[in-house]
Amino acid sequence: MTEQTLFIVKPDAVARKLTGEVIARFERKGFKLLKLKMFTFTQKQAENFYGVHKDKPFFGELTSFITSGPVVAAIIEGNNAIATTRIMIGATKSFEAAPGSIRGDFGLGFSDNIIHASDSQESFDHESRVAFE
Ligand code: ADP
Ligand code: MG
Repeated sequence: MTEQTLFIVKPDAVARKLTGEVIARFERKGFKLLKLKMFTFTQKQAENFYGVHKDKPFFGELTSFITSGPVVAAIIEGNNAIATTRIMIGATKSFEAAPGSIRGDFGLGFSDNIIHASDSQESFDHESRVAFE
């Protein structure tokens, strides 16, 4: 089932010069790159993007982190893109993510966990609108 999803290389990974490495994993897996964009989230964009977390205790930390520097957003296409990408990125807590996953191979942080990826069709619709507006 051909599907699209969005991932975002977060500010920690861009600062660590891991952007190419992260994108390459998705290309090697077989996904097709459809859109790429480097930008810095405004506070308003970050609050909209992460709106589903607005009542969580970590919301302030999360929006302050995601606005802290440039990110690289990508829309990719391929079989089962949403679920497969979530498997490839690994668990939210990078320090617990399985080796072989992107977070497991490159990160130790919680907020600063290398990469975001849409977790459903609804989040893809919302997040791609915000990121590519
Ligand atoms: P995921 O990015 O794996 O979908 P969530 O949707 O649960 O994870 O959370 C969104 C982002 O918020 C995480 O990627 C991480 O950057 C941050 N985050 C989640 N939980 C916490 C927490 N308890 N403390 C700090 N940051 C958190
Ligand atoms: Mg999420």
